[in-house]
Parts: sequence; C-alpha cells; structure tokens
Amino acid sequence: MEASLDNASELPDAVPPDTSVAGTGYTTPTFLQALIDADILIPTGVDGIYGRSGVYEAIAEGMNALVTQAGADQHAEVLRFPPTTPRKDFEDSEYLKSFPHLAGTVHSFCGNERDHFRLLERLEEGEDWTDQQRPTRVVLTPAACYPIYPVMARRGPLPPEGRVVDVFSYCFRHEPSLEPTRMQMFRMREYVRLGNAGQILAFRQMWIERGQALADQLELRHMLDVANDPFFGRGGKLVADNQRDQKLKFELLIPVNDGAPPTACMSFNYHVDHFSTVWTLRTSDGEKAHTGCAAFGIDRLTLALLRQHGLELGQWPKTVRAALGGI
Ligand code: AMP
Ligand code: ZN
Repeated sequence: MEASLDNASELPDAVPPDTSVAGTGYTTPTFLQALIDADILIPTGVDGIYGRSGVYEAIAEGMNALVTQAGADQHAEVLRFPPTTPRKDFEDSEYLKSFPHLAGTVHSFCGNERDHFRLLERLEEGEDWTDQQRPTRVVLTPAACYPIYPVMARRGPLPPEGRVVDVFSYCFRHEPSLEPTRMQMFRMREYVRLGNAGQILAFRQMWIERGQALADQLELRHMLDVANDPFFGRGGKLVADNQRDQKLKFELLIPVNDGAPPTACMSFNYHVDHFSTVWTLRTSDGEKAHTGCAAFGIDRLTLALLRQHGLELGQWPKTVRAALGGI
C-alpha cells in the first residue's frame, strides 16, 4: 500500500522566524510569544504546560467535533478514560522498552507521621523531598489508545468484522520544549481499528484520505510523509529505520513553528500484531489480531489553525469557522 505525497511542492520547509503573525498586527519574535501576548496560551513556568483561553478551547472543541463528524459512518464504540493507565498494563505494553524518556509515572506520599515531618522539614530547608514518594498503581497515559487494548483483550475474540473504537484523552510525554506544538500535556483524539491485516490497512488508507480532506476543508497547507516514532537509544535507531522501511507510520505535516520543519498534526499507524503479542487479542478465526489507529493531535491542529489563519478569529475564512461549528 502506497500513500501519495500531497501538495508537497507548495510546502515550505519551515515558517521563517520573525515574520508577522497574521491577525496580531505586529511582528513577534516567536509564535509562542505571540500566543502568550494574546492571552491564548497561559504560561505556568514549566515549558510545554499551558493554560488555554476560551477562544483556544472553542477552536479545539470545534476541531474535535469535526473529527467526530468525519468518523460518523464508523459507528465506533466511544470509550473515554481519565488520562491515566494502570501501571501493570503500561509495564506489559513495552512502552518503557521503546520510550523510557517520554514516560510519566505518578508517585504519592505513602509514609507515616514521622516521614511526613521529615518531608516538611526538607521542604522548609529547600532540600529534595521526593525520595518520600512511592509509585502508585497508575501512570500518565502516553497515547489515547493505550488503555483500550487490555480492555478489548478481556472481552475475548473479536467479532468477524473486528472493532472500531473512538478514544480521546489528555496525554503526557516528558518532552519540555519552547515550541508551542511540543507540549507535555496535550489532547489526542483517535479512531482505533482491531481486526485482520487487510482490515487495518484499508482503515488506515481511508483515514489518511479523510485526514487530508479535513486539512483541505480547514484551508491548512499540509503534506503527508512516512515517519517513525522517537525510539530511545542506539537500538532504537534500528527499530525506527525498520518502522520507516515497512511504512508503518504516516504523518500529516503542517507548518506551524518558527524556523522549524512542518509539524506532525495527525498520524496513521499500523502496529501489526504488537498489542496482540502483549495481550491475548484474537480475531474470530483465532488468529493474532492486528491493530492500527488514526490519531488527531487536537492541540497541534488548534495551533496550526491559529498559525495559518491568525490570532483573530474575526479574520479567519468564514468557511473554516463554519466547519468548526460556527466559532
Ligand atoms: P504519535 O502517537 O506520536 O503519532 O502522536 C499522535 C499525535 O499526537 C501527533 O500526530 C500529534 O498531533 C500529537 N502529539 C504528539 N506529541 C505531541 C506533543 N508533544 N504535543 C502536542 N501534540 C503532540
Ligand atoms: Zn494510537
């Protein structure tokens, strides 16, 4: 299966720095600073963790609703989890083998009164107090689809037509950055397909085309490219090369950041039988199930819209505002 490169020739490698951000009426040093100056993103003092304004949320909600509209014919099972995953499932998933640098674990104080006294003393002295903290039974969800595979496995073999699941979650990745698109907590909306290889590949191709159509409808310049996940370490390079060679991941890229290559705002993934090797996910024929997902980075798409159409909603194309539910 070959995905086509869309309008790549029209797409600049990077948005040049120090350009006027449309709609703001002034020249800003960076897109992030423009967003902060306009009170659209609210800094917290931690890179990649922001508050969001009402306007930003209206765009994000419109974006999420547009994805729902695009998937209406999927009759997907809607599942929502809090942004945590059981630690045991996370350990089984082998995430730590591939992405130890991105994982976020949840620790809590589990001591007695003496320990509490010591903790307060250390805080008072400005000393490290975190050795008092113990791991809890949850970790932060790294991708919206992670919590569903063990749940699906517990249900037994898939029906002959497989399953389509609709998930949405705040996700955590420990990748602090000054690029506004590289957040530590961000929202991911996904359609996940469980079935046989043919079903997953057809699903992925369909969503690649729908993703491109969505970007066109929103008048966002974009291109599709084969991609790899950021696997850790020297061994990770081999895994990443293999993922590219086998074309397991495609991304829809949109120019957003100053002086940087275009940003992946959607991804279309084929996991082959990874999750059915970890959990007992079987097709109706008793074969190992294959899985894949179409992921929409709701925050990145929101930022892409603000970048390409400007920080003033009033100046956006009317059709784009209408597509987002009349924001
Ligand atoms: P991935 O699982 O890496 O393919 O991520 C799925 C989608 O989530 C990407 O296409 C992005 O749109 C979004 N995403 C991934 N990492 C981040 C991040 N650090 N900040 C904001 N959005 C992200
Ligand atoms: Zn996924």
